[in-house]
Amino acid sequence: MSEWTDIIQAATVHDPISGAINTPIQLSSTFDQPSFDQFGEYDYARSGNPTREAGEQAIATLEHGKYGYLFSTGMAAISSVLFTLSAGDHLVVSQHVYGGTFRVLEEILPRWGITHDFVDFADESAIEAAIKPETKALYIETPSNPILHITDIKAVVAIAKAHGLLTIADNTFMSPFLQKPLDLGVDIVVHSATKFLAGHSDILAGAVVVNDQQLADKIYFIQNAVGATLGVLDTWLLLRGIKTLGVRMSHAAHSAQEIAEHLAQHPKIVNVLYPGLATHPGHDVHLAQAKNGGAVLSFDVGSEANARRLVSALKIPAFSVSLGAVESIISYPPKMSHAELNQTELDKTGISPGLLRFSVGLEDVADLISDLDAGLATI
Ligand SMILES: *Cc1c(COP(=O)(O)O)cnc(C)c1O
Repeated sequence: MSEWTDIIQAATVHDPISGAINTPIQLSSTFDQPSFDQFGEYDYARSGNPTREAGEQAIATLEHGKYGYLFSTGMAAISSVLFTLSAGDHLVVSQHVYGGTFRVLEEILPRWGITHDFVDFADESAIEAAIKPETKALYIETPSNPILHITDIKAVVAIAKAHGLLTIADNTFMSPFLQKPLDLGVDIVVHSATKFLAGHSDILAGAVVVNDQQLADKIYFIQNAVGATLGVLDTWLLLRGIKTLGVRMSHAAHSAQEIAEHLAQHPKIVNVLYPGLATHPGHDVHLAQAKNGGAVLSFDVGSEANARRLVSALKIPAFSVSLGAVESIISYPPKMSHAELNQTELDKTGISPGLLRFSVGLEDVADLISDLDAGLATI
């Protein structure tokens, strides 16, 4: 079936009892057991509840995976995956990972003896060189936040398989509608479902999807043991958000392409980073593994002073952290999503002082372009 149909069917799980079209919100922390010796499918809601399971099944279906898990935030999902590692294990991580992931890798895991090396994943020999006997996994994010750095998923998977390693991919920027890493051989997909999946800047949520049962068992063990699960009200909102994932992503990506092309020829813009532009490094690789360039672009206005002026002049986008919502959001990564990085780390990852990230929403693209033009005229 087409994935447009999959999305609606996966996110619209009817209630078998009443026939309600939408998944019931089961606000119950505990479940009555049929008898002293016989326990039912559910006992305590941290271990599982029907509403969360409907959401977990939906995200698994969309990612073409067998097992899905929902967490309270994207960072809870990512951390729970990393908590399946043990002291002595090592990871090779794309140097372009999300600031929060960077923080867990740098400041928490080393205290528990889990170490990592950051590598430019566009350089396959650098990945190979960073692999040690104790390496357990390669961790990628493509396109990356905020510079839209592209990683060749199949190439990384081939390296991982040759060394008996797992591949973990953060698919937040594409969503399963535009890119399905499990189909390309990735073992574990993680999401900040706060972004495109939920899509309305209302809830925080995270997801993990896998195909292998042993991996699924390990992730479920951590989910249940650590307990950073997604609540049922938020799961319901996530399911509602997912129903429109396809139309939202298609519309926003179309607008993002138009905005990127417009800014690329604008005299005040130093550089535009958008995987849908033929000039973007990794453009061909990206289009071979994803449907289009997505709904997020970044552009450099030359200096922090110019970025400040533009942000104050813009009337439509919200100036805030986060992305992937119905409203456009502009953010300044050095002070927001990547505030964890010092100047050397910012320089190394290509986050220049004039860089703004633009998450394109569902407003009229002509209005967004005129707003940007009016703003750019002030710098
Ligand atoms: C936002 C984000 C996260 C973290 O997710 P939260 O829901 O904020 O915890 C992880 N990865 C990427 C790429 C993100 O954009």
